[in-house]
Amino acid sequence: MTSDEGTPSGTPRVVVVGGGFAGFQAARSLARRMGDAVEIVLVSPTNYFLYLPLLPEVAAGILEPRRISVALAAALPACVRHAPGEVDELDLEGHRIGWLDPEGVHHETTFDRLVIAAGSVHKVLPVPGVTEYAQGFRGVPEALYLRDHLIRQVELAAMCDDPEEREARLTVVVVGGGYTGTEVTAQGFLFTKELAASRGLTEVPRWVLVSRGDVLSGLDEHLGRNADRVLRERGVDVRTQEQVEEATGDGVRLSSSGEHIPTRTLLWCVGVRPDPLIDDLGVEVEQGRIVADTHLRVPGHPHVFACGDAAAVPDRARPGEYTAMTAQHAERQGRLAGRNVAASLGHGRMRAYKHRDLGFVVDLGGFDAAANPLGVKLTGTPAHVVARGYHLMSMPGNRVRTAVDWLMEALLPRQTAQLGLVRSPAVPLDSASPEVPQHGLGFPHGSSPGPSDQSSRETFPGRSGGSAEAASPEGSVEGTSPATGAR
Ligand SMILES: Cc1cc2nc3c(=O)[nH]c(=O)nc-3n(C[C@H](O)[C@H](O)[C@H](O)COP(=O)(O)OP(=O)(O)OC[C@H]3O[C@@H](n4cnc5c(N)ncnc54)[C@H](O)[C@@H]3O)c2cc1C
Repeated sequence: MTSDEGTPSGTPRVVVVGGGFAGFQAARSLARRMGDAVEIVLVSPTNYFLYLPLLPEVAAGILEPRRISVALAAALPACVRHAPGEVDELDLEGHRIGWLDPEGVHHETTFDRLVIAAGSVHKVLPVPGVTEYAQGFRGVPEALYLRDHLIRQVELAAMCDDPEEREARLTVVVVGGGYTGTEVTAQGFLFTKELAASRGLTEVPRWVLVSRGDVLSGLDEHLGRNADRVLRERGVDVRTQEQVEEATGDGVRLSSSGEHIPTRTLLWCVGVRPDPLIDDLGVEVEQGRIVADTHLRVPGHPHVFACGDAAAVPDRARPGEYTAMTAQHAERQGRLAGRNVAASLGHGRMRAYKHRDLGFVVDLGGFDAAANPLGVKLTGTPAHVVARGYHLMSMPGNRVRTAVDWLMEALLPRQTAQLGLVRSPAVPLDSASPEVPQHGLGFPHGSSPGPSDQSSRETFPGRSGGSAEAASPEGSVEGTSPATGAR
């Protein structure tokens, strides 16, 4: 049995699930506050923190993927131990956690405090054909796949004599007018336009942005209005108050107009839902997110904290509502979770979560952006400079390399070699693990078991809690299915 008093050696163990905005900050702030007085284990399928807001620039060939992937070991204090794997068992009462490592070995350990920061996955709506034919945009594998796929489509169009096939290959449909869909469309349009010209095509690729509401409808009106204007001025076909009714192998059908748009590229950016890990946890949830109090504690489980996209945290600025799923909230909540975990272990005092809206930036590629830092409304080059400065300041590492990539982009043509390392079956839309390509080893679940996938192994021994029991590698994380009809 694990007790709040910790190990016989007196060092409590804190396990953090997830190394994204919230988990990364939680581990860092806890380590800074407690140093060697705590053992911190961060379980995450990737060994890096992913700076998601710049992912569209990876798909557009501006940034190399490693620029926005900051190694956890390089950016976190040495006392934080990274356990590579995907958590599939959470026993909140028994203070035990289990995860599957990349080689299919199941591990278990005990904890004195737990921070759940598992983020979110794609929200897949029951639209016929979408799971088979659409592509998501949440992780590095998907961005790499998309970059290669766009290059491939343009090159196949360039050598195609059939005008209908050529048109379909040069058409991209993006569903969802939130920040992901808007930024991917903005960056992707410029990328394919340049690409088509470089391959001798006279046509400009067609990008269609389909959105049920207005562009960036959840954000400040200034951002949405300007993003919409920039996209339309460039020639993007923006369809608001519209939805996709069906996706097939040769295109999509829209619901309001009934129009069929021939395409080989359907991007699904309709939003996210919390990680499936939360589904069977037995705690109170709100729209799939773990309900936490203002101190980020999970009611009924004083040793468990939740933050980021995975947590429904009361928004004191908007009484009765929960904080939005944004990087800003996740980062600040993570920092606070670290502080409050330390306080719960006798180091410092707990604080409630409150935030001040510092504004938002939307980079639209080229020299276009929209931003409202501290309420100041900016567009064009000033907004672009603010957006890039903000991103550089917010990244926990790789700043010089990122800035050099931006400089190269301004001086040189983009690199358009298509390596084809990530193919469509590796990035199915309904994945519970969009951060890792699907393959036959270890996690994600539903894959064939790895070579040593027979039993659980007690990891980080020397703690109270006894030996590990054998556990099934099948956990609460959803299985994955290959995208059968993927292109
Ligand atoms: C393309 C894109 C652009 C965006 N742009 C912006 C923007 O400009 N501004 C903004 O504010 N927000 C933006 N967001 C949203 C923002 O990135 C998220 O709100 C933020 O990442 C949430 O942080 P998080 O720590 O909760 O989750 P994440 O950053 O997603 O981190 C979750 C972590 O949990 C890990 N994990 C998941 N499941 C498990 C498991 N079972 N076991 C162990 N680990 C697990 C993941 O690997 C990951 O490390 C964007 C999102 C996307 C996809």
